[in-house]
Amino acid sequence: MQRLQEQGITDQRVLDRIRTVPRHLFMDEALATRAYEDTALPIGFGQTISQPFVVAKMTEALLAGGGIEKVLEIGTGCGYQTAVLSPLVKTIYTLERIDPLLKRARRTLRELRIRNVNFRHDDGNIGWPARAPFDGILLTAAPHSVPQALFDQLRLGGRLIAPVGPEGRQELFRYVKGETRNERHSLGPVSFVPLVSGLQR
Ligand code: SAH
Repeated sequence: MQRLQEQGITDQRVLDRIRTVPRHLFMDEALATRAYEDTALPIGFGQTISQPFVVAKMTEALLAGGGIEKVLEIGTGCGYQTAVLSPLVKTIYTLERIDPLLKRARRTLRELRIRNVNFRHDDGNIGWPARAPFDGILLTAAPHSVPQALFDQLRLGGRLIAPVGPEGRQELFRYVKGETRNERHSLGPVSFVPLVSGLQR
């Protein structure tokens, strides 16, 4: 925890969540002994659970400035990022393209009594237009560039946090939606699995 603070995480609510969410519950038992290392680890289907530092960084960047109640998350994975964010916003809409991962995440979050999350098996490239507009959008898989459909589903002044770029050369960006153009700031280099198209059952 002290390490996350040293690395620049200052939002106390976020630090508290990283401290209290039991990360081992999101992983296979075989890897659970490594759950509290600050690294990404495999969760099956070629996907990973995100590094706590990166989850903290993205959550902090999303919330900074206030007014974030309704959030769209793309790439539920095991649901760890969802769990960290859940009590800090009103409602989360989360999309995952691999159905077994989505089912497992739903079960884990239910066990943790997290109830403000709506799950959907769908392709995040198209977002969740029926529930738009969102105050914030989080991508936990990296596109080459952010799909316009997602900016269309963000309210004015809303924030979109996303890793962008090809594998091995991604950068984390924070976008703020404006009237005519979006503001964009880099939060540094990151390593995420790619955002891919289509569904897997
Ligand atoms: N949020 C997770 C990390 C998820 S890894 C955590 O907290 O640890 C990224 C996830 O994005 C994977 O589960 C992958 O299947 C999913 N993904 C990739 N492309 C997607 C798409 N187009 N739509 C929805 N989910 C996608």
